[in-house]
Order: sequence, then C-alpha cells, then structure tokens
Amino acid sequence: MLLTPGPTAVPEFVRESMSKETLHHRTPEFENIFKNTRELLLEILDMPQAVMLASSGTGAMEACVTNLCHSKALTINAGKFGERFGKICDAFNIPKTELKYEWNTPASVEQIVNTIKNDDKIDAIFIQICESAGGLRHPVEQIASKIKSINKNIMIIADGITAVGVEKIDTSNLDALITGSQKALMLPPGLSMIGFSNDAVKKIEKKPAGYYFNLLSEIKKQKQNTTAYTAATTLIIGLGEILGHIKQNGFEKLYIDTALRAKATREALKAIGLEVYPQMPANAMTTIYTESSNEIRKILKEKFDLNIAGGQDHLKGKIFRINHMGLVAPHEASWAVNSIEMALDELGLRTFDGTANKIFMEGLYKL
Ligand SMILES: *Cc1c(COP(=O)(O)O)cnc(C)c1O
Repeated sequence: MLLTPGPTAVPEFVRESMSKETLHHRTPEFENIFKNTRELLLEILDMPQAVMLASSGTGAMEACVTNLCHSKALTINAGKFGERFGKICDAFNIPKTELKYEWNTPASVEQIVNTIKNDDKIDAIFIQICESAGGLRHPVEQIASKIKSINKNIMIIADGITAVGVEKIDTSNLDALITGSQKALMLPPGLSMIGFSNDAVKKIEKKPAGYYFNLLSEIKKQKQNTTAYTAATTLIIGLGEILGHIKQNGFEKLYIDTALRAKATREALKAIGLEVYPQMPANAMTTIYTESSNEIRKILKEKFDLNIAGGQDHLKGKIFRINHMGLVAPHEASWAVNSIEMALDELGLRTFDGTANKIFMEGLYKL
C-alpha cells in the first residue's frame, strides 16, 4: 500500500483511461479532450487562466519565478520546497530575500509585511500553501490579503502542489497557483499546472521570459486548446478523467473527506502518545515527530506492506509522513494507524490495545 505524500496511488479507472492508443496532439480529437480537461482544471483551480506543462512541479515553480518576478523575490523557506524557490532565483541571478523558518513553524504574516514595507524592490512573493517537508500549512490567505492591501502589484505565487485537490483554496488574492500531477491529483508524475490571475497574465505579457517555460506562448496556445510544444497527451487524458470523476460527487466532498481523514488520523496517533510535528498541520499529510521513525517505517514496510515517507535533511530519521491526498479509502487510513500502533508494540514502546483504531473510527463515524 502506497501512502507516501506523492507520488500517490493512481486509481484503476484513471490508469485504464490512459491505456488507449496514443493520440496525435494536433488533432481535433485531442483538442476536444484538452478543452474538457482545461475547463475542469480552471474550475478546480478557481482562477481565470491556466496552463498545463509537461514537467514535474518544479518546472512550474521555475516558470513562475522567471515570468512573474521582474525585480526581486521574497521567498519563504520552511522546508525543502520553499528552499527550492530560493535556489531557482539563484540559478537565474534573480535577487531575493529569503525568510527562513523551522520546518514546523508557519510563516509570520507580520514579518512578511515588514519585509515588503522595508524593501520596495520586492515584486513577487513565493510561498507553499502546504510545505510538504514537514506537512506544514502556511497562512497564505492572510499573507496574500495583507500584501494586496498594501501593494496590489506584488505578485503572490502559491505552490499548491500538496494543497490543490486537498482543500478549497481562497484564490481571491493569489496571482499564481501551482500544482502537479503526482500528489492530490493521483496521476503519474510528469504534468504540472499553473492557474493565473488576470493581473499575472498582464505581467507575463509585459515581459515573458525563457523558451520552453515561456508562459506567454503557453497561455496563448492553451487558450486555443493546444500547447506550444508536444502536449503530455496521456497525462492530460488522465487529468480530465480524475477531475471529471471528482466533480461527479462535487469537489467539496473530496475536501470534506480528506479533512476528516486527516483529523481522525492525527487524533488516533496522538492518542497512542505520538507527537504531531507541525504547529499548523496541513490536511495533505500527517507528520509525526519520533526518534524511532526509521524503525517504525521499516516494520510498516516489511510486516504490513505499507509504504510511508520519512524526513529529509535534519529531519532524516526523525519524522514520518502519511499521505491523505486523493481518494484514500477509510480502511486504508485505518490500516495505517493500526499498523503504526502494532509497530510501537513491536519496538517495545507501547503495548498494543487497539486505541489508535478506536479513535480513528470514532473520529470518522461517530461525530
Ligand atoms: C512535490 C512538491 C513539489 C514539486 O516536486 P516535483 O518533484 O518537481 O514534482 C513542489 N512543491 C511541493 C510543496 C511539493 O510537495
């Protein structure tokens, strides 16, 4: 069982939809599929404009840095992905200020506001909605609304790779919303997507940058239901399939189910003495801080056929992360909390008594 916070398991009906013969991308058949997928994408992103790119999520991050920052970036680093925005700026010699936080600590709205007030060069802010390194939720909506009330021209670029498809995101003050195929959207890796505000499109039109990641050429083409270069046809077919499926029950249903499963998992693991790592946990994943992370993950994999993620850098061997993104069935999440409780027993840390499962089931079904 794959319960890592990306890549996530691809549902069978999605795999089937992608198993047909390859279509040529410059055909009316594919353009129809593209149009359908694009409409669904605009709906889930809740943004007026969007593009799909044949790249992993980092490609979309790079495209936003090069096309939406003209003078200086403010990057928020509370983990690997926030750090990556800074590294992209460095790679392109784009001046930046980086605000660093411990991986469990949400960005401070006040500090960001003070930073932009003291530096009028900053024209773009790059931040994760959920920083996947620690499963941390940043207060992006508050930051965006505060910044826009001070200076509307500052672009707010939100990396929603582990947030789009997890929760309803208030996009009213966002200029770009990035996502990728292999997380909450349950597809194989290789497709990234960006939603844009009308102001972002205007800024891109003023000074488009790059060649493959030139967002102006993509926006122009994708408005006409085609792409500047060869489209990732198979993944776009899969995206249309999964979004159409989610929409049948309503996007809201997915958000409610995910939030409930995340909450029940956190409560269940707290009840067996484990510590939730982030101060503000995102619903995309549950991150637990424990010195026995490696031992627990090893038992889960070998004995319970369950694959969850560990930590990186200074959190290597100190945390584990359980995915909640996508169409995870309640019995899968329940298996995870059960197995973790058993692993603690095996390590002599706590005697198994079924508490985790009890709390999980009550959290889900006895509200
Ligand atoms: C996975 C992820 C990315 C992008 O990673 P890729 O490997 O390039 O797809 C970016 N930001 C966050 C928050 C992520 O979780």
